[in-house]
Parts: sequence; structure tokens; C-alpha cells
Amino acid sequence: MGRPFYVTTPIYYVNDAPHIGHAYTTITADALARWHRLIGDDVFFLTGTDEHGLKIQRAAEANGLTPREQADRTSVRFKEAWDQLGITYDRFIRTTDPDHYQVVQEFLQRVYDSGDIELSTYEGPYCVSCEGYYAESDLIDGVNCPIHNRPVEVLVEENYFFKLSRYEQRLLDWYEANPDAVQPESKRNEAIGLIKSGLRDVSITRTSLQWGVPVPWAPGHVFYVWYDALINYCTAIRGKEELYWPAVHHLLAKDILRFHCVYWPAMCMAAGIDPPAHLNVHGYLLIGGEKMSKTALNQIAPADLIADFGVDPYRYHFLRDVSFGPDGDFSYEGMVARYNSDLANNLGNLLSRVATVVDKKCGGVGPAPTAGSPLAAVAAAVVEDTASAWDRVQPPEALEATWRLIREANAHLETNEPWKAEPGPAVDAVLGDALEVLRIVALLVQPAMPSTSAEIWRRIGLDGMPGDELLPAAAAWGGYPGGLPVEKGAPLFPRINVDR
Ligand SMILES: [Zn+2]
Repeated sequence: MGRPFYVTTPIYYVNDAPHIGHAYTTITADALARWHRLIGDDVFFLTGTDEHGLKIQRAAEANGLTPREQADRTSVRFKEAWDQLGITYDRFIRTTDPDHYQVVQEFLQRVYDSGDIELSTYEGPYCVSCEGYYAESDLIDGVNCPIHNRPVEVLVEENYFFKLSRYEQRLLDWYEANPDAVQPESKRNEAIGLIKSGLRDVSITRTSLQWGVPVPWAPGHVFYVWYDALINYCTAIRGKEELYWPAVHHLLAKDILRFHCVYWPAMCMAAGIDPPAHLNVHGYLLIGGEKMSKTALNQIAPADLIADFGVDPYRYHFLRDVSFGPDGDFSYEGMVARYNSDLANNLGNLLSRVATVVDKKCGGVGPAPTAGSPLAAVAAAVVEDTASAWDRVQPPEALEATWRLIREANAHLETNEPWKAEPGPAVDAVLGDALEVLRIVALLVQPAMPSTSAEIWRRIGLDGMPGDELLPAAAAWGGYPGGLPVEKGAPLFPRINVDR
């Protein structure tokens, strides 16, 4: 087995249908999982749905359903969206799964036994959409949730509290000792700022609702939804902790930074396990500069864009266009422009012109590449840069590196103009080099565009699937054997007319 690589998305809350923001995190995790499989790592990729809490209980009541039925209906929509997008998760966890109940109860019982959970009364502003209490000072105009900008409610409960306040110094020490744990640095600083501003104990059980994991030491109480949800990362690797923990890579959006980068490491410490080693925080996907929300009616479902562009171009767009970390702004026009320039004009054009000229000048049989090709050095550098970018969770950089090779190959063809030359060794050399570039590109784009990768592989006559042999060895220059039938097929990415 290779090196363990454990990657997670947040589990998505089932009061909502999947939109392009959920899909962004999930495609990023999928591309990382695919890349790490390509380099031979032992990958475990976890996603799923978060199904407890007041928001679900209320949504169920409004729809005349049981909470379980409500959860079933929405959970399956996430599964369907991920199937459509080719997401290769190893487990789709639901917080209603029986093994999750067991792990949550064991985890929090350990914290209770160690004395870090105590009974107390709490009254405070609570945002049902966040499922979180706020300090008065956090509220906008004293009444609205800072995330949702909607009125909060005041809840009073006698609950069990996690003594988070005891963990301020230990968290700061952990951040100090693990400077790379939270990426990017701006988000690390934000988390440290939250800790330094003072941590209050967190109410982690509820008696006001029944829809949750029962608290083993206190009948009538269920766990607060966030405290049950975060533990899903442990449930999924139960029995394999030695392999996958704490070297996990959590991906998350910045609105849940407080839960993942402050609460979760403290909970791990309290339960006697190491905090997660990698917390990769990304920004919001904005639409015309605005945050997507149910209330703003500006949520876009992945299926709407897949219908116009196809699955691989959809995946490519968000991986290439949205830098992991800062906020990204989505526009339909931008997606068309990116598609036409990168996919139609560059990658699609390279494949179709090579196949056409091989057909005309080489009788449809692909020649072998040359050892001294000027493209060999470019390819070697690109493979290295692509690997480094995936390693740093920077998909746009990985794809930009790959497209450097595609552009160089197109330029090489334009310089040599094999379509104007007489068949012979010179033409064979240029086309063989271009076919080798296509082979390497098929490997490098596999994490982003798996079907495209397989289709290029097939059209240039290669057997098996890209990834049957591991990178980086498989991407070394000279792997295309020559003598293979090259298929002239329909354009992979027909241009999209903007005036449609
Ligand atoms: Zn809120």
C-alpha cells in the first residue's frame, strides 16, 4: 500500500439542495483524491450529509414529514449530484448511520469522563440557520446573525457544556507548533484571532428537540448537531485511525472556520486524540459579487450548468477558475470564455489537428516521439509543477501548468506545419512528439476531467486506462510507443457561441 491520504469535505446540511458551492468543495476533494490515487497513495475520500438539528426538525414539520424522511429525501439529492459529477468518494456518510451514533457516544463519553463536559444553564442569541449561539457583540445591529443577516432567537436551556474556555492556551500552543495546519495563512490568523478574543464554553446538548444522537449519560438530552457532525471524520475511519489520523486533509468553506479550526481541534484534544493535521479553508463562491443563499434566490444547481457544458468542462471550470482560498466570483460568461479558450481552442484543437494530420500524412498510424524533442523538457517541468500544485491544494496552478504544455505543443505544430510537409521522418517526428504530449496531458488532466482523459487515451490508440501505471514514472517522456491507430473523432469540445 502507498502512503495514506485521507481527504474530507464538510458533510452537507440536508435542509438545502446541492448547489455549485457544495459542488466546488466536493469536486476539489475528488480531484485531490484522484491525483493521490494516480501517484499511488492509499486514498480514503469521505463526504456525506449532516442530518440532525433544529433546522431539519422544523423543515420536516413544515413538510409534514418525519425528520428521518426529510433527511432521506435531501441526502439522496446530494448522492445523485455527486454521481452525476463523477465523484469517487469511498464513503458517503450520513450522521443517521448507526455506526456514527456509536462513535459520537463513545467520543463524547470520553470527554465527559475526563471532566471537560459540565451541566449548566445558558441563555443567549441563537441562529437556527447556523445552529450556533452568538455573543450579543457578534450580532449585526444587535439582532441579526453575522452570517445570515437574519434575526436570531433567544434560547434558554439547561445543558451540558463543553469547557472550551479551558483550551485557549492549548489551542494557541497547537497553532504555534503546527504553523501549516490551517491554510491559507489569512484563515489561520483568523482562527488565532478568534481564540485570542476569548473562548466561551459551548452548550453541546439539547433537551428542546429529539432529533439528534442521544447523550449516553443524560436521558432526554441529544447532542448539539455540530458536535455530532464533526465526529463523522472519526466514524468513517474507525479501526483505521493508525493509518489515517491525524494526517487528514479537511476541506471547508470559511463560514464554518470557527467550528473546524477552533472547536474541532479542542474536541480532539479533550477526547485524547491529535487534532487534524490539515485544515484547508476556501472562500465563498460568489454570484455577481453576492454570496449564494436560499433567501437571495441566487443558488445555481450543478445540473443546470452540466446541461450546457457537460460534466468534465464543469469540473474543469471550477478547478481552473477558482483559486483555493480567496472568494471566487462565478459568471456564465466567464465560464463560456474559459471553455472556448482552454478546452475548444487549446486542448480540443491539439487533439483534433494531430489526429487529422496523422490520418493524412501517416495513414492514421501514430508515430513514436523523438528523444531529443524540445517538448520533452517542457513536459518534465510541467509534470513537476503539476505535482507540486496538487500537493499544495492549488488546482488552478496544477491545470495552468498542464495547459503550458498544451500551448507549447500547439506552438510546436504551428512552427513546423506538418500539414504542409511531405510525409516522411520530419513529419513523423513532429506528430510523434505531439502524440506524446497528448498522452502525458491525458494523465495530468485525469483528476479534473476523467472522461476526457480516458477518451484522449483511447483515441491515440493506447490500451487500458490512464492511471493504470503510476505517476510520475508513467508521465516520463517517451512512453508513447508509436505504431498505434489514431482515431479522427468528433471535436471533444465544440465551441460554444456566446450569443446563444
Ligand atoms: Zn446564521
